[in-house]
Amino acid sequence: MLKIEHIGIAVKNIKDSNDLFSRLLGAEPYKMEEVVSEGVLTSFFKVGENKVELLQALREDSPIARFLEKKGEGIHHIAFDVADISAEMDRLQKAGFTLINEHPKKGADNKLVCFLHPKGTNGVLIELCQSMD
Ligand code: ZN
Repeated sequence: MLKIEHIGIAVKNIKDSNDLFSRLLGAEPYKMEEVVSEGVLTSFFKVGENKVELLQALREDSPIARFLEKKGEGIHHIAFDVADISAEMDRLQKAGFTLINEHPKKGADNKLVCFLHPKGTNGVLIELCQSMD
C-alpha cells in the first residue's frame, strides 16, 4: 500500500458539509461526483497529498443511508492507494481478509476500488483504490 489516499466521511447534507469543510480546510471541494452504482453523491477536498471525501446518500438502499441510520454522521472508511489493485486483493484474500467486492469496480475520482469487510478489520471499512489516470 502506498499511502492513505483519502478518508471518507458520511454526511446527511453534502451542501451544508461542503460549506463546513471549506471553512475547516480553507479550500473548496475540487470536485463533486455522483456514483450511481452506490447511490451516493461525493465531494473531494485536497489536504496536502491526501484527500477528504464527503458522501451523501441519494437512495434509501445506499450503503451510506444504512450507515447513517445505524451510526449517524462520521468517518465511514479509510482508503489506501495501491499500485496494483488486483494483486493487493489477491494478497489480502490469502491473508484472510474478506473482500466485499470480488472484482475491482469503478469508484469516484477516477479510481478502481475494492472494499474490505469491516468485521475483519477492527470495525473499520477499508477501501483500496488504484488510480486510472
Ligand atoms: Zn472512498
